[in-house]
Amino acid sequence: MIPFNKPFIVGNELKYIEEAVKSGKISGDGIFTKKCHAFFEEKFGFQKVLLTTSCTDALEMAAILCDIQQGDEVIVPSYTFVSSANAFVLRGAKIVFVDSYSDNPNMDPVEIEKHITEKTKVIVPVHYAGVACDMEKIMNLAKKHNLFVVEDAAQAIDSYYTFSDGTKKALGSIGDFAAFSFHETKNIISGEGGILVINNPTYNTRAEIIREKGTNRSAFFRGEVNKYGWVDLGSSFLPSEILSAFLYAQLENLDIIQQKRIRIWEQYYSNLMPLQEKGFIKLPEIPSYATNNAHMFYVICRSYEERSSLIQYLKAKDIHPVFHYLSLNKSEFFLKDNSPVDIPNSDHFTDCLLRLPFYYELEESEQKSINSLIHEYFSSLESQI
Ligand SMILES: *Cc1c(COP(=O)(O)O)cnc(C)c1O
Repeated sequence: MIPFNKPFIVGNELKYIEEAVKSGKISGDGIFTKKCHAFFEEKFGFQKVLLTTSCTDALEMAAILCDIQQGDEVIVPSYTFVSSANAFVLRGAKIVFVDSYSDNPNMDPVEIEKHITEKTKVIVPVHYAGVACDMEKIMNLAKKHNLFVVEDAAQAIDSYYTFSDGTKKALGSIGDFAAFSFHETKNIISGEGGILVINNPTYNTRAEIIREKGTNRSAFFRGEVNKYGWVDLGSSFLPSEILSAFLYAQLENLDIIQQKRIRIWEQYYSNLMPLQEKGFIKLPEIPSYATNNAHMFYVICRSYEERSSLIQYLKAKDIHPVFHYLSLNKSEFFLKDNSPVDIPNSDHFTDCLLRLPFYYELEESEQKSINSLIHEYFSSLESQI
């Protein structure tokens, strides 16, 4: 049986958890949390990083920091995970969904511009599969219309964008804020987990306060104030040291994890290429401004029916691919208060995109059998013609 995902341990995860417990402090913001913060800031040039218990939490913090008011409009791709929208809905925003490119699930800047109004406050680019959105165009739109940019970089660790002047920047370091996930299905994991990146130092203090239940406890622990109290909105967004210890061990092995994942990605790509050449499926495209962090491998089938029958074919051999993202504009929750809108490219990915098993411990032999079954499926179609 080959599952879609399998959580893994790669180094000192359990040892560091033991250390954290023995140190006598397992609530948040201890030694391992600080080590993780420093790692991200140094490695990716993030101005300030705060560990959270999920990417969803980091997005919720970003929505508070953007000071969303009732009726503000937030531009979000329709083809994304619910949290990209929900975090802003919680603060009273109206979500304006825009479409993807036809050949890439990322949000199309031409579509973004069409949907900007007087009420727009935030653009939320989602770097699907860890592949960059066209950030230069998005940042220019944001500048022109004075909007915040919150990158949903849940899938985008160790991925980069190159601007037209040749400057290369890590995803998550470009917008005002960014949110990453360490959910067990991502490249780097801690079960549940995330970070908020703050790229504009104006927001550093408020972000710390929001994360610490609306108190200035962080400043108190640094000795900057002699007592702490309730100063703002907030919640409990910080993870326990047990999670941070696990995460830090994964971060120490980032390069090893990434090398392995890129090998898996390239093997799928080269092995399935003949099926793209025959027109059966489409493989992912990486635009020239983006890098590939091997977060996922997907194929795009020709129709919903063909995808369903391919899934059945693989499941019968105990291989478990998955599809995802019912376009959010078609969700039950959105349709309660809004009329249906037509977002064709997003619907196409909803119907036709298939994610293949992808995890750190996926064996070469397992991957070979997945590939040969996919080939077998399509040659059975060919022989029927
Ligand atoms: C995984 C994911 C999230 C949610 O991450 P959590 O850490 O589970 O909250 C949000 N957005 C996208 C695009 C994701 O892939």
